Amino acid sequence: MQNNVQSYGFFCIFARKNVTLWKIFDIMKRFWYFLACVLVCLSVEAQVKYIFYFIGDGMGANQVLMSEMYLADLEGKLGRNQLFMTHMPVAGMCATHSASDPITDSSAAGTTLATGEKTVNGRLGIGVKGDTLTTIAEELKREGWHVGVITTVAIDHATPAAFYAKSKSRNDYYDIGKQLVASDFDLFGGAGFHQPQPSKKDANLYDLAEKAGYAIAGGIQEAEMKRKTSQKLIVLQASDAADRKKECGNFPYAIDRKPEDMTLKELTAFSISYLHDMGGAFFLMVEGGMVDYAGHGRDGAAAIGETIDFDAAIGVAMDFYDKYPDETLILVTADHETGGMTPGNGGHHLDLQILRNQHCSGWVLSDALSAMYKDDKVPGWEQVKALLGEKLGFYREVAITDEEDAELQAAYHRTYEEKGSEVKTLYKDINQLSNTAIAILNKKAHVGWTSYSHTASPVPIFAIGRGAERFSGWHDNTELAPLLLKMAK
Ligand SMILES: [Zn+2]
Repeated sequence: MQNNVQSYGFFCIFARKNVTLWKIFDIMKRFWYFLACVLVCLSVEAQVKYIFYFIGDGMGANQVLMSEMYLADLEGKLGRNQLFMTHMPVAGMCATHSASDPITDSSAAGTTLATGEKTVNGRLGIGVKGDTLTTIAEELKREGWHVGVITTVAIDHATPAAFYAKSKSRNDYYDIGKQLVASDFDLFGGAGFHQPQPSKKDANLYDLAEKAGYAIAGGIQEAEMKRKTSQKLIVLQASDAADRKKECGNFPYAIDRKPEDMTLKELTAFSISYLHDMGGAFFLMVEGGMVDYAGHGRDGAAAIGETIDFDAAIGVAMDFYDKYPDETLILVTADHETGGMTPGNGGHHLDLQILRNQHCSGWVLSDALSAMYKDDKVPGWEQVKALLGEKLGFYREVAITDEEDAELQAAYHRTYEEKGSEVKTLYKDINQLSNTAIAILNKKAHVGWTSYSHTASPVPIFAIGRGAERFSGWHDNTELAPLLLKMAK
């Protein structure tokens, strides 16, 4: 006790007699304060608050270029009508091979775009050695960012799933769906689940999502209502939200869309408003998933339609960038190219505007032709010919040569007389006549295709905003996610 009194007294004397020491203290304090301010300023300088990651599934450089040339061609101009994405000041290229194959699938490529690590085709969020990988979306969510993942295909399909799921197989849809529910991400949007309830024993994924605090909205209007009362949201096409037992696939192709169908542009605008209103930083992944589907079907008009539609969603993000240029970073790329789509199939000709005569996708044409086979009766050739005229302009605006006519008639016989003659593409079996008719139109437009699958063609990179310059040049797809993450921290 006495000791304490003594030391207290000593301290007081010391303090009074050492005013200069206090002054030094004060100066040091100010110095540290100044240094802290400088450091904060520097870190603010390097930080991005809003990150957009646009992934055009299957969108190679030619899909972009041919969309621009098609738009110019419609106006009778030679050259390009620029899309939003090519207006961005930074461009680059990206190689896409996976850890198992020179040609990647969407799950391995999605995993790499989300984590920076290559993996084996078919895997999601699991590395070559079976290690669990962390995605940029998970990392940012942990750091308090709001996270949205939206697409034109099912929300548990490979590319969106690559941002939240770990699975040895991209086809384990039910398990992937459960991981979506457990992700705690703020927003999902797209078509519904592939397997909402595989068997009666299993809980329905929509019920699980609601239990986990997600509100489920069918279309933008319902989403606008539900955002007022819920913290987490899943926005689906109206029909998918209404029928929660149904297995879901994708949005209609842009070329097949009806006025009441939700567009990716509308979904993107809603997502930006929703995430921005939550306050703080956000990360939004937007997938244009059906450029790929059109490539698998070698359907030039559908591929161009999807690319232009994807670009419209990018335009919405660029409007946001105009408001917050110092805090926004938009990156656009693709997971791989699909189909080997090429402007040119001999000579120096392109006639892309002939594609304007196509009024539905090859998928819808195939269904319409199949539906003509009724009560075991093969429809007459004249009847089928009329449908080809209505949907593709054949024998009307689009002149058909004798050779092409013979080709179409042969395909007509195979379609209705040979069971199992469909062309099996990844997402749909297309009947011979639709496949042949679409191929003829593409040939006339001088659109070349080398594959019904993916190719190793490099894909484009476009970027705008803070730190965008880091994405210029030739990259490997492993480099993108780490660069984005660096900008966020
Ligand atoms: Zn694909």
